[in-house]
Amino acid sequence: MGILPMIHGQDARATFDFVRSSKNRTFAKLRFDMFRMRKGRSMKKQMFARICQGRAVLLGLVIVVAALAGMAADKNTEPALVDPGPIGGPPSDAIVLFGGKDLSQWRGKGDSEARWTVGDGCMTANRTGNVFTKEEFGDVQLHVEWAAPTEIKGKGQGRGNSGVYLQGRYEIQVLDSYQNSTYTNGQAGAFYGKFAPLVNPCRKPGEWQTYDIIFHAPKPAADGKEVIPGSFTVLYNGVLVQDHVPVKGSTTASAFKGAVPRGPLMLQDHGNPIRYRNIWIRPLN
Ligand code: MG
Repeated sequence: MGILPMIHGQDARATFDFVRSSKNRTFAKLRFDMFRMRKGRSMKKQMFARICQGRAVLLGLVIVVAALAGMAADKNTEPALVDPGPIGGPPSDAIVLFGGKDLSQWRGKGDSEARWTVGDGCMTANRTGNVFTKEEFGDVQLHVEWAAPTEIKGKGQGRGNSGVYLQGRYEIQVLDSYQNSTYTNGQAGAFYGKFAPLVNPCRKPGEWQTYDIIFHAPKPAADGKEVIPGSFTVLYNGVLVQDHVPVKGSTTASAFKGAVPRGPLMLQDHGNPIRYRNIWIRPLN
């Protein structure tokens, strides 16, 4: 690309004449260009073509520079190192909500003390009410282990009922669903009242079960009236039971209502002595 392709209209004509008549050696290349131009199509067409050619080269350079910058940015965002810990975690970057010893991360209703029973590395619902984390969360990855009583009492929703409520609003049902008939969107692994689990991988009563939950919170829209749905993805004993299902409204027996940026995790005391252990959470925002 020379100087000529960047010059337009009357200026181009004047420049063309000046260069053609100049004795200066600096313009030798330009004179050669002009000689070639005179042999072919009209000067106007050739100059237009060269302007296009010059801009294409410039655009190409911009793309290359942007790609190189993108590659450099990728290099700068190397994923953080995380020690995953033992099978079942907690990973090194998780917040441990219950590690088997105390309820220091938990409270009861309002500012009251959490009074679930702690022993044998478990926290157990004991009819003292729901418990809430002191810290509040938005989008999270959550790991929970739970066990229904070994001795079977009751049936349907009355057998081993509890629940994991994200933000105190959206329940993934905890229930002894081992050979225990109830409505499909009320069994273990259900997004309660909204989505039944895809399959039923429930273990026998008394055995430990795991939930691994990816939760994206619903968010208020700009107008403050509508809600942008969030989502639940749930692995139950390692088996997919909720596949990115939409989360919008709160579920039955939620402690709070309305979409909020952050809320406490709640474990439901439904009157059955469900045990919990190894609860950890990783905020995603
Ligand atoms: Mg429940």
